[in-house]
Amino acid sequence: MGALSACNVPADGNVTAVLAVQGAFAEHERMLDALGQPWFELRDADDLELPFARLILPGGESTTQGKLLRERGMLEPLRERVLAGMPVLATCAGLILLAQRVEGDGSRATTPRPDQVGPWLATLDVTVERNAYGRQLGSFHTTAPFDGLGQVPMSFIRAPYVSAVGPKSQVLARVDGRVVAVRQGSQLALAFHPELDGDPRIHELFLSL
Ligand code: GLN
Repeated sequence: MGALSACNVPADGNVTAVLAVQGAFAEHERMLDALGQPWFELRDADDLELPFARLILPGGESTTQGKLLRERGMLEPLRERVLAGMPVLATCAGLILLAQRVEGDGSRATTPRPDQVGPWLATLDVTVERNAYGRQLGSFHTTAPFDGLGQVPMSFIRAPYVSAVGPKSQVLARVDGRVVAVRQGSQLALAFHPELDGDPRIHELFLSL
């Protein structure tokens, strides 16, 4: 189990592809290892030729990830697969990549160029506020109720939150009244990092989609 190379990806494609252009992908891979689930890394368009059934979009820096996806010709193919119903687990920057509307950036002094802000994959009917907790509260840990799972540990790292949820998206968790987890069909998107807290339940939920 674990990391697969191109030559031993199972032909049935029952594998999770982990986007690995930038950010905290290794932590998701460790969680998949702990759950005995095969995975491989998506680094460029060639990797999209391998069969895979699910996708993880990790935390990191969404502008960097979005630009790399565009430059490497991965943005449209991934968008098509997500729209076609492929299960996706998106954490933090991954949530920003999925959002149809991206706003704000509390840490930025200058106005970003239009090609630097997204929306990127734009498959999830939400508005996200980037770096929404400001510099002081950029990173924190808490536990909060998650729909169907009970109390879940949540680590936030320069996190976005969901400032508006469209009719297609369902709220799964809130912290201090702010939406931090949503589901829309097979898209599961979180402002926090479930791969960091040793609690496998959110990855198990994703694997059951
Ligand atoms: N602040 C980052 C962004 O806007 C997201 C942070 C994270 O993924 N931990 O892309």
